[in-house]
Amino acid sequence: MTDIIIIGGGVIGLMTARELMQSGARVLILERQAIGRESSWAGGGILSPLYPWRTVEPIIQLWLRSHAEYPKLAEILQYRTGIDPEWLKSGLLIADCENEHLAETWCESHGMAYDRPDLAHFRALEPAVRFTPSSPVFLPEIAQIRNPRLLRALCSEVLADGARISEHQTVTEVATSGTSITHVSTGDKTYSADHYVITAGAWSGMISDRFFASPRLKVEPVKGQMIVFSAEPGLLRHIILNQGRYLIPRKDGRILAGSTLEYANFDKSTTESARSELAEFAYTVLPALRSCAIEKHWAGLRPGSPTGIPYIGQHPEIQNLYFNCGHFRNGFAMAPASARLLADLLLARSPVVPPAPYSLVAEH
Ligand SMILES: Cc1cc2nc3c(=O)[nH]c(=O)nc-3n(C[C@H](O)[C@H](O)[C@H](O)COP(=O)(O)OP(=O)(O)OC[C@H]3O[C@@H](n4cnc5c(N)ncnc54)[C@H](O)[C@@H]3O)c2cc1C
Repeated sequence: MTDIIIIGGGVIGLMTARELMQSGARVLILERQAIGRESSWAGGGILSPLYPWRTVEPIIQLWLRSHAEYPKLAEILQYRTGIDPEWLKSGLLIADCENEHLAETWCESHGMAYDRPDLAHFRALEPAVRFTPSSPVFLPEIAQIRNPRLLRALCSEVLADGARISEHQTVTEVATSGTSITHVSTGDKTYSADHYVITAGAWSGMISDRFFASPRLKVEPVKGQMIVFSAEPGLLRHIILNQGRYLIPRKDGRILAGSTLEYANFDKSTTESARSELAEFAYTVLPALRSCAIEKHWAGLRPGSPTGIPYIGQHPEIQNLYFNCGHFRNGFAMAPASARLLADLLLARSPVVPPAPYSLVAEH
C-alpha cells in the first residue's frame, strides 16, 4: 500500500519524502536512474543565494527557514545514519558587493549577521587570496553542505523509516480519470497511490507539458559546470564569491570552482572552454591553486524557472497531483522549507510560509 508516490529522487524528492513520512504517510519514490545523481549531485551546496539582496522575497522566505533548520537536520541525519552531511559554517565572503548600503539594509532587516571588512581585514580572513576586492561584504553565518553526503544520508534515513525507492524507473505514462490520477507507469510496471508529487527537477516542465495541458510550468534545464581542485585544508577558509563565480572550500581541503550558466537543453557534456574559464577564475583569486591538480570536471542540469521561485503546490484541476520543482540555483538552500510547505499543503496543515507566490498559477 502506498499513500504518496514521489516522481524524482533528487534532494527535493528525498526531502519531501522525509517530511511526508513524519506524518505517517507511506511513500514510494520513483527515480529514472540512480537516486540523487542529477542536479543534486552536481551542485555546490552553498546554503544561501549568491547575493541575497538581489534575490526575490519568496526565495528568501524559503531560504531563511531552511537556513535555521539545517544545523539540527544535519545533526539528526548524522546521528540516525552515521553519515556526516558536512554542514559547515564556512561563511560567505562576497568580494564585489557593488551596493554596500543595500547589502547592509538587507542584512539588518533580515537579521543576517554581516561585516564590511577593509582590505587588511579581508587579507586576514583569507591570507592566500591575492586579488583586491572591490567592495567586500562578509556573511559569517552562511554554511555549506556536501551534496552527495546529504543525499546519501537522506536516502538512508527514509529507507530506514520504511520508504520504498525504485531506481531506474522512468515514469512514462500518467493515467487520469476525471480530476484524478489513477496510476503511473514506468514501461511494464504500474504504480498507484492516493497522491502524486512531481519532484523531477529539470524534467518537471517536460512532464507537465506532456501530461497536463495547463497551467504551463516554465521549468527548463540550465547547465552548470564545475571543477574541483585537490588541496590541503586551510588554504581557503571561506566560500568566496566574485562576479558570479565562487570557490568553496570543503572540509577535507578540496576546493570547488563554479559555475557556468548555460541554456543547452538536456546536454550535460563538459567543455574545455568552461574548464579553462573556471580554472582561470580560481587562479586569479587563489594563485596557489596553480600547483593543485584539477581532480574532476562535471556538469549538471539545474531546474531553471524564470525568476528562480519554485513551483510548490497542488495542480488546479487534478486534485491528487502536487509539484515541488523549479528551484533553479537554490535547491539546497531552499530544500527543507520547500518540503515542509509541500507537506503542509498536501496534508491540509497550516502552511509554514504563505503559499501564494509558489502556486502553479502564480506568475513565475
Ligand atoms: C553546477 C551547479 C551548482 C549548483 N550549486 C548550488 C548551490 O551551491 N546551492 C544550492 O542551493 N543549489 C545549487 N545548485 C542547484 C541545485 O543543485 C538544484 O536546485 C537542486 O539539486 C534541484 O533538486 P531537484 O531534486 O529538484 O532536482 P534533481 O536533483 O535533478 O532531481 C530530479 C530527479 O528526477 C528524476 N526524474 C526526472 N524525470 C523523471 C521521470 N520521468 N521519472 C522518474 N524520475 C525522473 C531525475 O533523474 C532526477 O534524479 C547547483 C546546481 C548545479 C548544476
